[in-house]
Amino acid sequence: MQKQTVDRHSHLQNENRTSSVDESLYNLDEIASLVSYELRTPLTSIRAALGLLLTGMFGTLPKKGQRMLEIALNNTDRLLRLAEELEHDPKLSRKNVVPEPSSFNSAADPATQRLALLSLWRQRTYYDRLTGLPNQTLWIEHLEQALVHAQQKSDQAVAVLLIGLDRFQIINDSLGRAAGDRLLIAVAQRLEAYIQPIGIIARLQEDEFAVLLEDVKSIDDLVSIAQGIQQLLSDSFNFENQGVFVTASIGIAWSQEGHACPEDLLYDADTAMHQAKNQGKDRYEIFDIGVRVEAISRLRLETDLRLALERQEFQIYYQPIVSLKTSKLTGFEALLRWQHPEQGMIFPTQFIPLAEETGLINPIGEWVLRQACQQLQIWQQRFPVSPPLTISVNLSTQQITQPDLVEQVRQILDETGVNPNSVKLEITESIIMENPETAIAVLKQLKQLGLELCVDDFGTGYSSLAYLHYFPVDTLKIDRSFISQIDSEGEQLEIVQTIIRLAWNLGMNVVTEGVETPNQLAQLKSLRCEYGQGYLFSQPVDMQAAQQLIGQKL
Ligand code: C2E
Ligand code: CA
Ligand code: CA
Repeated sequence: MQKQTVDRHSHLQNENRTSSVDESLYNLDEIASLVSYELRTPLTSIRAALGLLLTGMFGTLPKKGQRMLEIALNNTDRLLRLAEELEHDPKLSRKNVVPEPSSFNSAADPATQRLALLSLWRQRTYYDRLTGLPNQTLWIEHLEQALVHAQQKSDQAVAVLLIGLDRFQIINDSLGRAAGDRLLIAVAQRLEAYIQPIGIIARLQEDEFAVLLEDVKSIDDLVSIAQGIQQLLSDSFNFENQGVFVTASIGIAWSQEGHACPEDLLYDADTAMHQAKNQGKDRYEIFDIGVRVEAISRLRLETDLRLALERQEFQIYYQPIVSLKTSKLTGFEALLRWQHPEQGMIFPTQFIPLAEETGLINPIGEWVLRQACQQLQIWQQRFPVSPPLTISVNLSTQQITQPDLVEQVRQILDETGVNPNSVKLEITESIIMENPETAIAVLKQLKQLGLELCVDDFGTGYSSLAYLHYFPVDTLKIDRSFISQIDSEGEQLEIVQTIIRLAWNLGMNVVTEGVETPNQLAQLKSLRCEYGQGYLFSQPVDMQAAQQLIGQKL
């Protein structure tokens, strides 16, 4: 599919691959004065740029400086003519393009010296130092050209395969950096041998390679190339008589309408590659436009979420918890809301998972607890009742595994002066079951602070009921899914009854959540369930409305 393209670029690909020049042989001042003399550019600037070029730090030079040196080197007429001849003469081998180190010494004739320099400049600008493959700059240029060509032919597409080696960091850490480098070179050679006849391969980053394919006719071609790459890597690499296995996650994207620039195509391939990594690695994924929309909005949401605390966009809503026997208000559950400046109110199910993934849940959770305790302290003083009002606050997995959680909670209790007995922490059953030993140890420490503990969403986390007596908790909150069906299904009613009895036997009390209908309420009362929460009593409401409810319902 690709022969034509490869020919078009072959001079670039074959040019001066890994020239291991001995840079001590350069006399910077001499070369700089030579270039400077012909161009009348300040000697010091040229010298500085040459220094960066030779030490491999040319990329750190500002674009303007790079351009200046490029012009300096390209504008030497003789040099340019020679370079052109070389580029167009297939008989000239790489050896002739990059002179041997000895020819760099000051005795070599100036034309050869400058040619060598131009050659070195090209190499440093367009090729990866370690593997000798084209780098991102050169590869993007090819991609740009390929996209222009593809626009002229409507039935053919340009495709990008982004190859990310899996767990390369681990290999680097265990074998050492030098071995890691050798492995990268070996991987690059295998990939290059496979790709060169059909496309252009480059190394973009440490453990990331990109393949450009033109004239793509079907997705099946791309899939078989991706599979070919996986096959290729599946043979182990030999290192000091030790077989090292490498796998890769591959993201595939191809130009369709709407892909005007190379960066978009690369970005899509990157998204697909990350999807492949997230789905277990050693696989390929084909980019799908829906994923792009999701990735963009997720990225935006994440950025906004990082700023939300600082901008005070969070707010706590309070949902009453009611005594089923007396119908009196006993306390509230604190439920987080995010007042987004553009999107309006966002509910926790839409952002808590993201907050957990990014670790932001820790500062957010801390804020919720502090805020809720402060509010309870105010309400308890304003509405002194017996027993005092309570507040329930949700904790996520991340918070439970955070080493300083207990200390943080202790500090908040101290700061706000709230009575710990009135504060209930809710932890879902699934969090406890994910890692029962750790969870139970943390729960015990929290219990020692005098707090009350509650298992949330009980009945959904597959805990063996026999396990329950190990949980140092005071309350079971039966999940909404059981309550919603007790109207119609006798079986659900029995389950609820069993849970209530079990809780009593263990000295725990029971809250049922999601009570929506008078019939559900009647059933729960008949089971002598103590507490209820749900839309039948009230939706979660803001602080002012909650305060009004206290006035009315106590
Ligand atoms: P959850 O802890 O199970 O909270 C109960 C959820 O059920 C709340 O949703 C509440 O508004 C809703 N709900 C209450 N009564 C009824 C009812 O009668 N019918 C129905 N259909 N729903 C009812 P919300 O506020 O959207 O919160 C969802 C989840 O987000 C919470 O589930 C909790 O897991 C999490 N969450 C909320 N705030 C926080 C927080 O501050 N920290 C953490 N870690 N998680 C939180
Ligand atoms: Ca809860
Ligand atoms: Ca719940």
